[in-house]
Formats: sequence, structure tokens, C-alpha cells
Amino acid sequence: TTSQPILEVTGLTMDFGGIRALDSLDLQVREGEIVALIGPNGAGKTTFFNCLTGIYKPTGGDLLLTPPGQKTRRLNGLKPNKVTQQGLARTFQNIRLFPNMTVLENVMIARHCRTRAKVLGAIFRDRRTREEERQIVELSYSILEKMGLESWVNEFAKNLPYGAQRRLEIARALATEPILLLLDEPAAGMNPQETKELDDLISEIRDDGLSILLIEHDMKLVMSLSDHIFVMDYGKKIAEGNPEEIRTNPDVIKAYLGED
Ligand code: ATP
Repeated sequence: TTSQPILEVTGLTMDFGGIRALDSLDLQVREGEIVALIGPNGAGKTTFFNCLTGIYKPTGGDLLLTPPGQKTRRLNGLKPNKVTQQGLARTFQNIRLFPNMTVLENVMIARHCRTRAKVLGAIFRDRRTREEERQIVELSYSILEKMGLESWVNEFAKNLPYGAQRRLEIARALATEPILLLLDEPAAGMNPQETKELDDLISEIRDDGLSILLIEHDMKLVMSLSDHIFVMDYGKKIAEGNPEEIRTNPDVIKAYLGED
């Protein structure tokens, strides 16, 4: 299509001292697509997410977010919480939940972040009307149900099995009602059964209309889910295309797919 991409990244560059971790990277995500970012260890994928979400301030380039039907916003230089409020939500390579809060609380906290709560704990201090609270609880329950976590709502996050913790991370990201969901290796550490369930869940999230940008090493999952794939090596984009084009691209096979 010729429609404006939801996310448009141009010339993104990130230097750490003498190391150029991202080298003039161009990337787009269109509405309703699952886009994957793949590449060998150290290619710069996580650095890219960190630039996008305000954890790092890029050395150069532009990060533009255009929610469907709305005007374009520049994300460059925004703090992580502001990026969330603009509609980007992410999960991390290593699980980062609130371990001593319940499953429900983990999701509700995220909801409050999107709605600009000044203090994370506001929820427990009666600063919201009952109606607002009721809506947040309702939304949280529906997300937990979708992610297959309804039987765990009152359990501490730390007590969940590993696969369920990973799904809770996604649930928490969804609670911010993002325009674009960033998933950093969601299948890492999962067994084949959990990975299959994750595949179905991510497809459902996309079918609900959300656009997704995914870093993932599990090629089976990447090929099954993605509408479009970007391949990075040494901070540069070396290829992009649909799964079939990527599977058969000689440069990709040499740099990456040939590894296993
Ligand atoms: P993996 O698949 O292992 O997660 P990756 O593609 O996510 O790898 P990055 O973690 O983004 O790769 O790393 C890209 C390069 O940037 C590496 O050479 C890394 O050492 C470097 N790098 C990342 N963060 C920093 C930092 N804070 N300071 C210095 N160098 C960094």
C-alpha cells in the first residue's frame, strides 16, 4: 500500500564511543502488520528498541510515529514514559515484571502509566473515581483472559510458570492500549508447546488490529508470523522482504540463516 506507515525510522544511528551499534537504519511498520527484526547476536536489534523507546538517545536519525488517522509525532529524545504515552509499548528480552505484585496488579499498573498517573501507586490511594477503577479492572481482566492468564489473577507474578510470565509481560504491554507493540524475543526460553501457544496469541493480537514489531531468534516463529522481515548485521540493514524472500536471500543465508 501507499499509506503512511505507523512507524517510520530513517537514518537511525547509535554510537557507543567508537562502536557504531546502529548505522543509518531505515525501517517501516504499516498498520496491522507483524514486522520482524532478525540478525545475529550483537547485530543491534535491542539497541534499536532502546532507541525507539527512549532508553538511549540516538546519535542521529528520525523516529516518527503516525497513529492511524492522526498527525505524525516525532519520538526522538522523548523519555521512556512519554514514549509509552505516545502509544509504543514493549516487552524485554529478560522478564521484567513486578514479582511481588499480583498478576492483576501488574496489568493495572501499566494501565495507569498510559493514563498519565503521576504516581504509580495512585491506584491504591483512592485518587480515582469508582467508575474509572471499575473500567480499569474490567479492561485488565479482559486482557488477562485473552492471554490465558485468568486462572492466575491473584497470584504473585513471581509464582507463575515461565511461559505464563512471558505472556504476562505481553498482557502488561497491551494494558497501555498501544498503537504499536514491540516484543523483544518473546519466545526466548520457551518450550515448543509454549512457543506454539505464543504464535497463536500474537496472531490474535494482530487480528484485533494491533501492529507489532518483533525481535526473535526462533526462525520458525518468525517465518510463520511475519508479514515483513528486516535483517540486520553489524548495525546495518542487509535485507528486507516477505518470509519467502528472506528465506531464499543469499546474503541472509550467509550472515545468519546458515548459522545453524
Ligand atoms: P542479541 O541478539 O544478542 O540480543 P542484539 O542484536 O540485540 O544482540 P545489541 O545488544 O543491540 O545486539 O548490541 C549491538 C552492539 O552494540 C554490540 O556490539 C554491543 O556490544 C553494543 N552495545 C549495546 N549497548 C551498548 C552500551 N550501552 N554501551 C556500549 N556498547 C553497547
